[in-house]
Amino acid sequence: MEVANTIDSVRELVKAARSAGKKIGFVPTMGALHIGHISLIEAAVKKCDFVIVSIFVNPTQFGPGEDYKKYPRPLEDDLEICRNAGVDVVFAPAQEQMYPSENVTWVNVEKLTEPLCGRSRPGHFRGVTTVCAKLFNIVAPDVVFFGAKDAQQAIVIKRMVEDLNMPLEIVVCPTIRESDGLAVSSRNKYLTEEEKKDATLIYKSLEKCREMIEAGTTDIGTITAEMRTILSQSPAIEVEYVSIVDVEILQSIDHITGKVLAVVAVRIGQTRLIDNIVVDIEQQ
Ligand code: AMP
Repeated sequence: MEVANTIDSVRELVKAARSAGKKIGFVPTMGALHIGHISLIEAAVKKCDFVIVSIFVNPTQFGPGEDYKKYPRPLEDDLEICRNAGVDVVFAPAQEQMYPSENVTWVNVEKLTEPLCGRSRPGHFRGVTTVCAKLFNIVAPDVVFFGAKDAQQAIVIKRMVEDLNMPLEIVVCPTIRESDGLAVSSRNKYLTEEEKKDATLIYKSLEKCREMIEAGTTDIGTITAEMRTILSQSPAIEVEYVSIVDVEILQSIDHITGKVLAVVAVRIGQTRLIDNIVVDIEQQ
């Protein structure tokens, strides 16, 4: 496995792989790798001949007062995980490589970035789409792998790729969970044991949502009220949003029809956690 710290070096490595006729898979991450990231790498290894993982804690997607500085950066452990997972190249650029001067060019996906996390994290998605556009230009992959865990992010990126005619395919992989249902996340490292227990209420509220929809409840207000009741079992949980939206355009809906996305964002202490599930009544 090669570790590239510069844009020129990663481009050289990709160029050689492409000349050898290899299909290039790419997994963008912020590091602190866990089984969720590994599942994306495994999907990439399966579908592609040459796999690149980027590890870059992107400053432009963090707002003031967010956890950019304290975000975990266990680079040596991450490299070991990548080596064991069959990654060909890790691209781990310094901030000066990605943003050598003040950034004045931004990629902004409208509408889809307004609700949900866009409301509570202004500028977040602009940072995500901009860094992904840069990474896609640098790596020039055939296929890029994202997690369903960050549902809004995956939808926004897919739309950016479509609208800007980027010549690549986006694959969205399922959310990997702990045995108690908690979605695996680099930010779970911030949680105390007690907070981790509280955090299991997030998936419990989503399971309740699935159960109610499957049992025939169609009124969104009734379902989200029930989800909030579950979350309120822990006084440590501060709800940011509990919502059921259209799975493609993320708009609020009044009644369940077909396929919907149930999304939850909470704060537990200093830690912000998000999770979601898709429920498709037509598949029942
Ligand atoms: P991050 O390092 O948090 O920016 O995440 C990098 C990629 O890993 C994103 O596409 C995430 O959606 C994905 N990811 C994070 N957690 C999980 C998980 N529990 N299951 C599946 N994918 C995940």
